[in-house]
Amino acid sequence: MNNRPLRILMLSAEMTPFAKTGGLADVVGALPKALRDLGHDIRVCLPRYGFVDKARFALKPALKAFTVPMNGQTEEVEILQTEIGRGIPVYFVENAKYYDREDIYMYHDDADRFILFCRAALEMARKLDWQPEIIHCNDWHTAIIPNWLATIYREDPFFAGTASVYTIHNLAYQGVFGHRVLEIAGLAKYEFNIAQCPGENQINFMARGLYFADCINAVSPTYAREILTPEYGEGFDWLLRQRRDRLYGVLNGIDYETIDPSTDPHIPAHFSLHDLSAKRLVKAALQYEAGLSVDAETPLIGMISRLSDQKGFDLIGQVIEALMAHLDLQLILLGTGDDRYHQLFQSIHDRFPARAAVFLTFNTPLAQRIYAGSDMFLMPSRFEPCGLGQLIAMRYGSVPIVRRTGGLADTVQEFRADLAAGNGFTFGPYDSMAMFTAIVRATVSYTYRETWRLLMMRCMSLDFSWHASAEKYVELYQRALASHAEHKMPPQFAQVPG
Ligand code: ADP
Repeated sequence: MNNRPLRILMLSAEMTPFAKTGGLADVVGALPKALRDLGHDIRVCLPRYGFVDKARFALKPALKAFTVPMNGQTEEVEILQTEIGRGIPVYFVENAKYYDREDIYMYHDDADRFILFCRAALEMARKLDWQPEIIHCNDWHTAIIPNWLATIYREDPFFAGTASVYTIHNLAYQGVFGHRVLEIAGLAKYEFNIAQCPGENQINFMARGLYFADCINAVSPTYAREILTPEYGEGFDWLLRQRRDRLYGVLNGIDYETIDPSTDPHIPAHFSLHDLSAKRLVKAALQYEAGLSVDAETPLIGMISRLSDQKGFDLIGQVIEALMAHLDLQLILLGTGDDRYHQLFQSIHDRFPARAAVFLTFNTPLAQRIYAGSDMFLMPSRFEPCGLGQLIAMRYGSVPIVRRTGGLADTVQEFRADLAAGNGFTFGPYDSMAMFTAIVRATVSYTYRETWRLLMMRCMSLDFSWHASAEKYVELYQRALASHAEHKMPPQFAQVPG
């Protein structure tokens, strides 16, 4: 592998510790540290949302106000800067009108907000006179960049050599808007439409990222294969099949520095692979905090998740009565999302107050206590690009119970005590009884305490740190640079199957 240091600009709507709704933030907060450790000049840029506190994160002015083309006019932005890890610059695009909000998404002008963010990030690089060789885009919010590099910036000497890598963290969120966004993005004069987009006559940001990026990554090998099929392709399996030669499945990692049961400041006692003794204290403290009976013998199943259809909560709704009636277990859920799931879990708690605890909030310290204090971690997802919950759980000795899909299939194998193999409990069909029997296998195994201790240790000894995956990303960056140099953009129009 060519080890020459690369200049990489990573763009994202979310990044830990500044702004987070899910796994995207964790990835963008951690992968740059691993890339830096490999010697690359990695810099990150995100919007400065109103809730990102300037004093808390020591944000300093980096560039004075400058204007950015937008919607046929210009918009003024400033750039602030801080640092994470070992000297990684993180830039923030400041514009009160678009970003001084309480949340990251779900505003009527989200298209405008992320178009401005992306354009400002490109112009920022020019003003800093720092020429990125790779722009690493994440999800639909930044998917317009590969489209621009192939059009507006194509003849621009500053960006001519810049290749794009586009990571799909979740194909289901595509950023679909009316045609007006092409005017806003300055792309209206470039006649281009991808036929057969779901919702004809709409502009789909995700599709543009998939179409124009030099390389695409889909965060786990299994998800990268699954999205080539109509079942998982969210309407774009045909486009992904056409771009198959650019599609990779580099698995996400987690940040082993901050996610560590031997140092985590959010948990009441520390433990490690070599000394698990304090885990029972952490479990007892969690049971007490959550209002559950404090009982070491009853297995405690944790769930930490967005409450959306994707995550398989309908399966839980179908068997919850039977689970509570027939199995000796406790549940603890932390999550926010769809109202109907809020109601479902609220009613589970009302019926089984000493055995089912429910926190309908977003709370990172509590999440850490649940990962650390639970015995098992349930993730019955309908689809799962990678999934970080199960990886974090394993790091804290909480054994995953998952559906075999996407990254869950790549990271959890069925436990076989007789073979001393596997690291969790899995089921294949999207079916509540299949999930039920996986939970039964887990709770029965739990009663064999020595076997369970070895299983916990198997989970904790696995390496899901970013190191190996960061090296694979570097290979991807190099492939992107090579294909960018080879193929003059834009590529031929995709041939839509008739
Ligand atoms: P996704 O990105 O699809 O939401 P992942 O499993 O990849 O799912 O990542 C979810 C991340 O968000 C994990 O770090 C998880 O701990 C965190 N998380 C999800 N819900 C909550 C919550 N309610 N409070 C705190 N952290 C949460």
